[in-house]
Amino acid sequence: VTLNILLDTRRCSGFASCLIVAPSVFDLDEAEGKAVLLRDDCPPELLNRVTQAARDCPTGAIELVGDGG
Ligand code: SF4
Repeated sequence: VTLNILLDTRRCSGFASCLIVAPSVFDLDEAEGKAVLLRDDCPPELLNRVTQAARDCPTGAIELVGDGG
């Protein structure tokens, strides 16, 4: 199963906790004050970090979704 990472930039308010937890996945657009995705697939080795980033995001802007599910 391939997991995809979704980032809802309308919800994101730039707290940047996701960048600290998973710096290989999230970056911050300084001009917009919002996170950006560096990749939108989530390989197994990043699952823990991305799951934690999603859980810790104060605005619930990060979601992990399965392909076709
Ligand atoms: S933790 Fe959530 S609100 Fe903060 S920058 Fe990341 S996506 Fe945006």
